[in-house]
Amino acid sequence: MEQKKKLIVLGGGESGVGAAILAKDKGMEVFLSDMGAIAPRYAAMLDAEGIEWEQGHHTMERILQADEVVKSPGIPPTSPVMLAIAEKGIPVISEIEFAGRYTDAKMVCITGSNGKTTTTMLTYHILHDAGLNVGMAGNVGKSLALQVAREPHDVYVIELSSFQLENMYDFKANVAVLLNITPDHLDRYDYKMQNYVNAKFRILNNLTPEDAFIFWQDDPVIEAQLRQVVTEAKMYPFSDHIENNVKAYVDDKNELVLSTPETSLIMPRAELSLSGLHNLYNSMAAGLSACLLDIKKEDIRRALGNFEGVEHRLEFVDEINGVRWINDSKATNVNSCWYALESMPAAVDGRKEVVLILGGKDKGNDYSEIEPLVKDKVKAIVCMGKDNAKLLDFFTGKVEKIADTHSLDEAVAACQELAESGDTVLLSPCCASFDLFHSYEERGRMFKDAVRELKNK
Ligand code: ADP
Repeated sequence: MEQKKKLIVLGGGESGVGAAILAKDKGMEVFLSDMGAIAPRYAAMLDAEGIEWEQGHHTMERILQADEVVKSPGIPPTSPVMLAIAEKGIPVISEIEFAGRYTDAKMVCITGSNGKTTTTMLTYHILHDAGLNVGMAGNVGKSLALQVAREPHDVYVIELSSFQLENMYDFKANVAVLLNITPDHLDRYDYKMQNYVNAKFRILNNLTPEDAFIFWQDDPVIEAQLRQVVTEAKMYPFSDHIENNVKAYVDDKNELVLSTPETSLIMPRAELSLSGLHNLYNSMAAGLSACLLDIKKEDIRRALGNFEGVEHRLEFVDEINGVRWINDSKATNVNSCWYALESMPAAVDGRKEVVLILGGKDKGNDYSEIEPLVKDKVKAIVCMGKDNAKLLDFFTGKVEKIADTHSLDEAVAACQELAESGDTVLLSPCCASFDLFHSYEERGRMFKDAVRELKNK
């Protein structure tokens, strides 16, 4: 009798549990191992499927018997378990690579340093709204593997981080989107930007002349890399202005133009539901993807106009006594905050209207990138962190007022004091949240709760 394939899954989160269930369905011998604790919901799913698992340690003898390993993107390749697996020469793949073997669905794959989740959700929204049988996977929604196993779709929109791309080999996108590349996660790449760029460019792997590559034409890092790599895919660059062969741009009437052999669409920029330059790019990438999937232009236009946005990304919370409160808690790096500020109103007659909350766990930030926008638009900065010394040092003298606070309640109270009718309070902290919160989601939710409390006072 043929021996069952032995698959080891490392990591018991959404992707690992999905991979384990798909492998079991395909008749493999599966074992899931997690060095940390497995959430009760996932443990229950594994038990219900009769899949063996362990948590809190790795049983190396068993793991090293594997024919193949599916690794969660969060496990660094330099961890002891991965080094031992590499030493033994056992192939390691990502959950997306694994699931991709068992589906012929069309794949729209989205990567970049910033904007992945927004663009993935917006693309999904357009396709779903147009009536396609579409699933969303990657870092958002259910794992691809679980959907392939239990609720297959004709099309998937997949958010791919550089970590996921690292362990992908034969997987192929039909539409590959690369939004931008700015330094991020360099600690995982030997502090070499080129390693990170190479990981992002794996999105181009295996593309054929029938496939499409959508990318931001004006990104200097993408441009430089494209001079060195060869792809057979059809190229769909986008830009905020018309130049060369761009397939999406803004014309001189401030209209968004999408132009592919399949569809050509023009809509006023003001009709886009997402505001800000960064979201213009995200709308272009999502709109081009939809054109390539033959979605009707009326459907694309409607969906680009009625998308409700994504929580914690430039999310409008409320207007209280004429002050608008905006939650951009997901802005955990300086570049994201730059785009948030870029989308804020310019000073009117020298009157600046933004009160900006910054701070948290600094990942070696260089604030000079946002300095010009701060000088142009920000009337006050409220620092919110355990240790605000670096921010105070950098911004003192560059804004009219700067406050030093150490909790969310203190920060919101300071903003209330500083903001007048017509102003906008923007939480776009440039930093990770771990000094005062568990996650950026918790920071954003607490901010929204505190703002809503103000209304009840
Ligand atoms: P990701 O999933 O890549 O982290 P998100 O869609 O969650 O991206 O957006 C995170 C933050 O990045 C947002 O709060 C916004 O400020 C910023 N952002 C979104 N889209 C872009 C873009 N195309 N370019 C630069 N910054 C962006």
